[in-house]
Amino acid sequence: MKNDIVTLEITDITPEGYGVGRIDGKVFFVADTAVGDICECIILKELKSHSFAKLVNILTPSRDRIESDCAVSKRCGGCVFRHISYDAELELKKNTVKQAFSRIAGIDIKVNDVVSGNPERYRNKVQYPFSCENGITQFGYYARRSHRIVSHSSCPLQDIVFTEIASYCAELCDKLHITGYNESSGKGIVRHAVMRKNRKGEILLCLVVAEKHRKLSILAEEIAKKFPQIIGIHININKKRDNVIFGDETYRLLGVNTLTDSLCGKTFEISPRAFYQVNADMAEKLYSHASTLANRKEDGSIILDLYCGAGTIGLCLANDSDKLCGVEIIDAAIENAKINARQNGRSEENTLFVCGDASVGVEECKRRFGKPDIIIVDPPRKGLDTAVIETVVKASPEQVIYISCDPATLARDCAVFAESGYFADSATPFDLFPRTGHVETVVLLERAGSTI
Ligand code: SAH
Repeated sequence: MKNDIVTLEITDITPEGYGVGRIDGKVFFVADTAVGDICECIILKELKSHSFAKLVNILTPSRDRIESDCAVSKRCGGCVFRHISYDAELELKKNTVKQAFSRIAGIDIKVNDVVSGNPERYRNKVQYPFSCENGITQFGYYARRSHRIVSHSSCPLQDIVFTEIASYCAELCDKLHITGYNESSGKGIVRHAVMRKNRKGEILLCLVVAEKHRKLSILAEEIAKKFPQIIGIHININKKRDNVIFGDETYRLLGVNTLTDSLCGKTFEISPRAFYQVNADMAEKLYSHASTLANRKEDGSIILDLYCGAGTIGLCLANDSDKLCGVEIIDAAIENAKINARQNGRSEENTLFVCGDASVGVEECKRRFGKPDIIIVDPPRKGLDTAVIETVVKASPEQVIYISCDPATLARDCAVFAESGYFADSATPFDLFPRTGHVETVVLLERAGSTI
């Protein structure tokens, strides 16, 4: 019952980072625990099939435990593994991918060791929610499963400069009476500060606001004066009262339109609304791996890059003789992709980027270049719609390279591919988001009996 104290042995961790303990078959989820902990927990919420509990006292600590080096890690929803060693986290992530395949898809697949890099200060992008408490503008990250803002003075996942900029911005908001936005009342102006940094250290700042305000340009000038590494400041207007970050209208207040970064020896322009991997070093490893999987013909293959964002994967992977078609739903990202293709020396006749739903990708590719030999898919967390899988299978490519940010939907989709004769031998996880519950996975699907 609620508020009862139970003693649990933690035997598993969910992908969201909750420790799992059982008493008489009943499952308890407890945050901030590690496999092997024996601990006393207080029941917070009891449901029929499972309960949520809070850690009260550790009787026997897990061998994976380490001291968290972040003052707010227990409250902040960003990291879920800061209290266990990084090696233990990598094992857990490998296991998450294994279990997704066996439990969801009934597929016994070899899961390789997680490819990893530096687990600290890897993020090149932050999205700080702003709010206003007692007339003072606040920023931070949301607490777990809530929109309560947890303030901090630094975050070990990112460059300290992001927090310094947000902090100065909050200070100016109060000075200029452009207060942070209050989600429950719908009052206030600044909703989010979204920042992206390239490898040279240049930063693009996009302030998401509930409405235009005449003093936003003063705010922008003051910020740019103090932080010369900011090369552009944009305003996005989001009037909606939901939790989607961006609204439809973005305009530039100051500096440049796009940030330019390099990946795998190529340069990429990225606008504020375009998707770009937040961990550039690990993205390079992932793209290089995808490239080694791709079986390109010597005289050129036809490559279709679905969910292509600013074109990064396809442009890193395609040789000059390959024909490359990329499809993506965000218009600004496709505009970036077209420029990126030109800037990286791709010929117009061998390149096509189309703004549209992934389900039209095969048709567009066929119309311009013919049937694709290799299809790369890199969908958002919800995975592939059945309509997309159908068009992909119908096109009968030799290879499908599936890059996924959610092992559960990846496994589900691989089961559908298997019904259509496309199978995977192995999966390789990549830790693009150390200390969080997220993991990327790359799988190569080939037709049974394929000759290549
Ligand atoms: N491959 C890119 C982007 C991957 S993120 C990279 O590595 O950088 C997933 C992308 O899918 C995002 O750019 C998102 O805008 C796009 N997307 C989401 N839904 C889509 C849909 N229905 N059709 C096409 N693209 C979509």
